Amino acid sequence: MYLVADIDVSICAEKSCKLCTQYCPEANTIQYSEELGKSKGFKYGSAYVAVDRCKGCAQCVWVCDNMAKNNAIKMIMIDQLPLAAVTDNIRYEEKSTIVTLSNPMVVIGN
Ligand code: SF4
Ligand code: SF4
Repeated sequence: MYLVADIDVSICAEKSCKLCTQYCPEANTIQYSEELGKSKGFKYGSAYVAVDRCKGCAQCVWVCDNMAKNNAIKMIMIDQLPLAAVTDNIRYEEKSTIVTLSNPMVVIGN
């Protein structure tokens, strides 16, 4: 097991600064969804992490805490995530960069 970033939608969707999406060193890992926030009744969308791409560097935590001052991201053991976004159509053997999010929130670990 290892640590991955987890974004608190209830905090992020109030701010929606998108700063973390610019600093994650892994391509297509921090994504943004308008529906994710609005479906929970917030005005804005929210960032979320495709955990199967997250390398656990915690750079996004530093950005959200210290640059954005929003404290919306925590590192959490991947098996402790109640819900996690995972990417679809990743072909590691082909080193493809194609990423299709089939469903923003997919339960993993069960
Ligand atoms: S930096 Fe924090 S508040 Fe801003 S989009 Fe990322 S998670 Fe949301
Ligand atoms: S922990 Fe690192 S790799 Fe994972 S989402 Fe945050 S910045 Fe990206």
